[in-house]
Amino acid sequence: MFTQIKEILIDHEVGETPLVARVLKNRGKIPYEFVKSSKIQNADSSLKHGKQLLWITRTPGGSVKPCPATNPPYLCCQYTTIHAMTQCPFDCTYCILQDYLENPLITLYADQELIFQEIATVQRGEPKRFFRFGTGELADSLALDALTGLSSDYIKFFNTRKNALIELKTKSAQIENLTELNPKHAVISWSLNPLSIIKKEERRAASLQERLQAARRCQDAGYLLGFHFDPLLRFKEWESAYCDLLHQLFDAVNPDRIAWISLGSLRFPPALKDVMVKRFPGSRILYEEMIRGQDGKMRYIRPLRVELYRKVSDWIREYAPDVFLYFCMESPAVWDAVFGGHPASNADLDFGFAQSIWERFRDEVDMDSPERMFYS
Ligand code: SF4
Repeated sequence: MFTQIKEILIDHEVGETPLVARVLKNRGKIPYEFVKSSKIQNADSSLKHGKQLLWITRTPGGSVKPCPATNPPYLCCQYTTIHAMTQCPFDCTYCILQDYLENPLITLYADQELIFQEIATVQRGEPKRFFRFGTGELADSLALDALTGLSSDYIKFFNTRKNALIELKTKSAQIENLTELNPKHAVISWSLNPLSIIKKEERRAASLQERLQAARRCQDAGYLLGFHFDPLLRFKEWESAYCDLLHQLFDAVNPDRIAWISLGSLRFPPALKDVMVKRFPGSRILYEEMIRGQDGKMRYIRPLRVELYRKVSDWIREYAPDVFLYFCMESPAVWDAVFGGHPASNADLDFGFAQSIWERFRDEVDMDSPERMFYS
């Protein structure tokens, strides 16, 4: 199940923590060793090696932050990220973490109770906000859940919190720990791409079939679902591939249980191109017409992005007319071209999420009226 992990290294300073005890109980035959952090600093620093090692240590603090997002004019949804782990055992060719994170080791923080305290502090600091928190920005939320069991800790923590949802975002099918829990205040979400792209560009991640079956099981267990078409890619026959993917998605799940769907076309900092070419010389996804955007990231030229978004969003709307559909890191001009309007600001987009959850799911989410929260 987590065969990609070849060794577990444990910072001797956290050796007595409950999370380490749980990992050791779940590790099967994976060998482990207690080491000093100085040994880690001298370890093999290649990504290929790092993705096979699980390093458990203390959190450096500052684990709960606004999404690093991107610069204006691109709109950001004001998500709040939780760094419960960093790095990922999967190996997607386009993964931004290859360039973004200096540490190639999959790093799990043993003192999660400090992170929970940070979450409470962040919420106390802005009592008039409805928060969307997520652990899937610098890691895959569930890829190693059979080993860490972190999903249960987070779902139980958020069950009793008001005005907040936790999103666990994944390309795995590791949902065994979820199905017996109280699903309140949790959105389980999947990044999706057509099968041909999964095979070529999302190495070691679960197949499309496995992801959709896992989503269906989470729906049946009472969870809200999320889906992320990110990165949306242009390739030969992309139209039929995405059309077919949406048919399969809505065959598997009920649109009424989907909290949100995001669309984001391929984008990356220029430095990632060298890493991708070196690590994945066979990948063809870089060879479309791209420009350097105002935030410095490479992306398809605007007419290509608009065409991609228009078609995919129209197909989504056919199946799910009421779902909250948004762009990750897009300009107001693209929002206008595709949706006929754009949020007035990042805060307005954040408000839109809260409004949609209030209108569709207030019977199952403890929350105040967004109008009252934001405008009183
Ligand atoms: S699943 Fe996400 S975090 Fe993991 S390698 Fe792929 S893009 Fe990166």
